[in-house]
Amino acid sequence: MPNPSLLILPGDGIGPEVMAEVRKVIDWFGANRGLSFEVGEDLVGGAAYDAHGTPLTDDTMALAQSVDAVLLGAVGGPNYDDLDFSVKPERGLLRLRKEMDLFANLRPAQCFDALADFSSLKREVVAGLDIMIVRELTSGVYFGEPRGIVKEGNERVGINTQRYTESEIARVARAAFDLAQKRGGKLCSMEKANVMESGILWREVVTEVGRAEYPDVELSHMYADAGAMQLTRWPKQFDVIVTDNLFGDLLSDLAAMLTGSLGMLPSASLGAPMANGRPKALYEPVHGSAPDIAGMGKANPIACILSFAMALRYSFDAGAEATRLERAVETVLADGVRTADLMQTEGGTPATTAEMGDAVVAALSAGG
Ligand code: NAD
Repeated sequence: MPNPSLLILPGDGIGPEVMAEVRKVIDWFGANRGLSFEVGEDLVGGAAYDAHGTPLTDDTMALAQSVDAVLLGAVGGPNYDDLDFSVKPERGLLRLRKEMDLFANLRPAQCFDALADFSSLKREVVAGLDIMIVRELTSGVYFGEPRGIVKEGNERVGINTQRYTESEIARVARAAFDLAQKRGGKLCSMEKANVMESGILWREVVTEVGRAEYPDVELSHMYADAGAMQLTRWPKQFDVIVTDNLFGDLLSDLAAMLTGSLGMLPSASLGAPMANGRPKALYEPVHGSAPDIAGMGKANPIACILSFAMALRYSFDAGAEATRLERAVETVLADGVRTADLMQTEGGTPATTAEMGDAVVAALSAGG
């Protein structure tokens, strides 16, 4: 069997810096766990624009479609702010998501014990938190037609349309049920069935999929506004949450911030299964290119490292190795290693990006 393939797209700003640390982790798994990858690397975002005049070339797009998983750093930066909308760095990322049809966005919110005091909520509310929000990513009000700003009589009207087909709801529901089956066996679906027809259909379809295919998963429903309240009141009541594109955008950011720094948050976007049974997949940290600290060795590489852990789990059937990597991160944090974003008070010397990556690799070696 050939090695599984991985396309690395470091992108802009701190993207290449954090990706260099992921490379160390990938090399460690090759050398120590017999887990080797065919790793390709290419340009995306501003870096691709500088080289080719486009934020994603057709060749890179074709490469992304052909590999088992794509790992992306971040795109964007002030140098590109004045570019035409069609060639802005973010268009490269959007094209990847759209053409790979990545409809399920997985955003874990996990609170490492060593960072529990970082949350704006009380330690006992967040310590040990481990939930997963699955957001529908390719449909809903961000894409529905009609849309636009039109003139009606003497005033302008802004229009967006919330629209979901049964099959769009069913496929993201299945992705969430699959996850719930592998985790705590509980799924909560959130919509606004009290005021939106798309919410009524969402609730019906999720219920039907659950009854027919996942009777072992405990399904509950919640209005999305009540869900936001419950997420801040007692987030540990949830295991997996599935919701639409708009509510998922808000709820996943809310849940993520329960856990502390942006530099800690990974994500995965999954599509339909490929011929080999693996889903099309793009893994990326939640943060952007952080131009304010780019090139200074200050970036926290953990979000990108944990994104690779998600790739191990969801694309490479290596859940035990993913857990090994997450434990190594936990150990490093428990040992007090902190990049600047994880330091609450002045004083003390923060670890550099490279030192944090080295510490994770050392913890892997110590644990393995
Ligand atoms: P950002 O996430 O880049 O930065 C927000 C703040 O968090 C900054 O102060 C930054 O220094 C800090 N930060 C982010 N990641 C960090 C890390 N790993 N370690 C330590 N600190 C970190 O968001 P922004 O400033 O709003 O956007 C900057 C650029 O990134 C813009 O061009 C934006 O369009 C782009 N962006 C890209 C993505 C993506 O590639 N997926 C996501 C968001 C923003």
